[in-house]
Amino acid sequence: MYDVVIIGAGITGTMLCRKLSQYRLKLAVLEKENDIAEGATMANSAVIHVGYDPEDGTNKAELNVKGAQQYKQICKDLHCAYKVTGAYIAACGAEEEASLTVLAARADARDIPYRTLTREEALREEPNLSDQVTRVLDFYITAVVYPWEVANACMEVACQNGAELHLNAPCTQITKEGDCYRITTPKGTFLTRYVVNAAGVHAEDIHNMIGKAAWHATPRKGEYFVLDQDVQPIQHIIFPVPSKEKGKGVLAIPTVYGNTLIGPNSDFLDDPDDNGTSDSGLAYVRTNISKTLKNIPLNRSIRTFAGIRPTTTNPDFIIEEVKDAPHFIDAVSIESPGLASAPAIADRIIEILSQSLKLEPDSSAVMTRKKPVVLADLSAEERNALIRENPAYGRIICRCEQISEGEIIDCIRRPCGARTVKGVKKRVRPGMGRCQGGFCEPKVVHILARELGISPLEVVYDSPDSKILQSENRI
Ligand SMILES: Cc1cc2nc3c(=O)[nH]c(=O)nc-3n(C[C@H](O)[C@H](O)[C@H](O)COP(=O)(O)OP(=O)(O)OC[C@H]3O[C@@H](n4cnc5c(N)ncnc54)[C@H](O)[C@@H]3O)c2cc1C
Repeated sequence: MYDVVIIGAGITGTMLCRKLSQYRLKLAVLEKENDIAEGATMANSAVIHVGYDPEDGTNKAELNVKGAQQYKQICKDLHCAYKVTGAYIAACGAEEEASLTVLAARADARDIPYRTLTREEALREEPNLSDQVTRVLDFYITAVVYPWEVANACMEVACQNGAELHLNAPCTQITKEGDCYRITTPKGTFLTRYVVNAAGVHAEDIHNMIGKAAWHATPRKGEYFVLDQDVQPIQHIIFPVPSKEKGKGVLAIPTVYGNTLIGPNSDFLDDPDDNGTSDSGLAYVRTNISKTLKNIPLNRSIRTFAGIRPTTTNPDFIIEEVKDAPHFIDAVSIESPGLASAPAIADRIIEILSQSLKLEPDSSAVMTRKKPVVLADLSAEERNALIRENPAYGRIICRCEQISEGEIIDCIRRPCGARTVKGVKKRVRPGMGRCQGGFCEPKVVHILARELGISPLEVVYDSPDSKILQSENRI
């Protein structure tokens, strides 16, 4: 019998689970995929929006501001990257400048700091602004994170505190049994007093297991180019002025590791799992980035990717106990700024739970995690000392990102550690660089096989059926 079962190990589910793990509760997270953060949390702009954009009176406005305020400390506690870049909202012409005034007024009302820059002032910091940009609002405390890292770290802490993570455990049925819910998955059934539906684009399916949803999922795809680290055309995140029709529009984002993302578009989908990129989507991105920026070397793209926004017919986040289904809580329609809002979404859910669930602090709970070794952050002396102690840190596996075997082994051995090639890539980045795994992937396969005690033939890239090697061809 569990106290709370969370369906979905994206940022909503993992952030909630970490926060709940400070109480004496039996917790489980059920995830249908083979790793944490495989949905929207894996593929997004990674911006911790400060909260000037959502309209007054919405959950988004309140939770974005409150969530963003918590991120710096959370990232510090979890040893996750948090890079303050600032965010330029670049207006082109008088009409858009008027919109900047609206955003500035909202920011004033929400105590969000910003500065206003003339074209000339902005050009001094961002010489690649397009010729059309006339004025800029800089939300200079805006930061970027590495969303998978945060979700993984949250889950790691929750598991340290006794929570369970069940991968490859899609929830297929929920039935009411007295005061409890029975959740069916191929990994077994879970009896629980409370359920939190944090299933992203599939949240409607989960909701409909206990009653028909009053809203409908309308997943929207966003596609990106990833530019190589040696071209860094911008220092700040560059947004166009947001609009009702185009949302936040096509932006340029400096990532925490020195790449630049250009995107996304916004295309409604029939298939909520269609996460491939398309010629038309990328062409849209290419055309629209030129509104705010010039000299963007898209020919230096090392990868493209797409993410799917868990939008619904309800324009706001839905975070509530479902009417007629006591103790079943929806955390759905968590589109942007869902990443930035996640800490406050978790607080809101805990507030709802606390109305009927006794939350007793667990004095043994630890909310921080052990700092992972990041070789690139160490001085030459520190590296040498580490390598003397453990020579695996001296064997560089990923030449592009300078990732050592020691770091890869650590990410496999940690709680909620990597089990797949992509899992290793998401945790410590081999395969993220220019060669995209061309050199390091075979080595990662062998390290995984050795650490997991399986044959290299059994190592998968991502899902359980994504085998990399077919057979041995040499004895
Ligand atoms: C293109 C794009 C750009 C974005 N940019 C930003 C940004 O810059 N800043 C920001 O704040 N937000 C941004 N967002 C929004 C943000 O990414 C999402 O709000 C957030 O990731 C949602 O997290 P989640 O945990 O609710 O959903 P998800 O990350 O989608 O997680 C849901 C999880 O549930 C699992 N699941 C589904 N069905 C089942 C089932 N039956 N059983 C078990 N598990 C199941 C899925 O596999 C998935 O892992 C962006 C989103 C996109 C797509």
